[in-house]
Amino acid sequence: MRLVLVGPPGAGKGTQAVHLAQHYAIPHISTGDIFRANIKGETKLGLLAKSYMDKGELVPDSVTNDMVADRLTHSDVANGFLLDGYPRNVEQAKFLDGVLTTRNIPLDAVLEFQLANDEIVKRLSGRRVCKACGAIFHMIFEKPKVDGVCDKCQGELYQRDDDKESVIQNRLTVYTEQTEPIIAYYKGVNLLKTISALGEVSAISAAAIAALK
Ligand code: AMP
Repeated sequence: MRLVLVGPPGAGKGTQAVHLAQHYAIPHISTGDIFRANIKGETKLGLLAKSYMDKGELVPDSVTNDMVADRLTHSDVANGFLLDGYPRNVEQAKFLDGVLTTRNIPLDAVLEFQLANDEIVKRLSGRRVCKACGAIFHMIFEKPKVDGVCDKCQGELYQRDDDKESVIQNRLTVYTEQTEPIIAYYKGVNLLKTISALGEVSAISAAAIAALK
């Protein structure tokens, strides 16, 4: 299965990506996670990415595209892959097409998660992430057993800088203006499947798998 997930920030792509990658036994490739790992490791790429991420803006295509093209040369993508957070604009979508066409590994589907704006803001402002293992929690919907502590590895939970109220609005604007056009792009080539991102995590996973059959 070669799959792209698309949807507004906070729609639960990251959470669903973990389930779907497990279900199809394919690597989960999240550009946001790769950038965050680079920020943590204080690499040159991390330093550059942080200056855009902190404002809720997209990291330049030249950087992001090369990073994804390189990731897609790893041997673990032989049986498929799941891209989460990429492509994020039409230019990236076209670049990805070029890479996949050259390697003769076309996409099987693009799965869109739909969610209303007021729900997005509620979800993003309550999201907490484990510093150590990256597991995702929510202050209201998926509370950790102990406040501020990861259930899975006991790591410390933190709020992403770009989940703060001041940045959320800009991320939504960037999504509407830059990312949403890729939905029409993929619809035009008959790859788009759309599901609602509202409801229980397990019900959404089941809906995703049914849509991809
Ligand atoms: P995410 O974890 O997918 O919400 O991404 C967090 C941030 O990383 C975004 O707001 C962007 O600043 C950056 N980012 C992630 N993926 C991309 C991408 N495909 N193109 C450009 N910037 C990205």
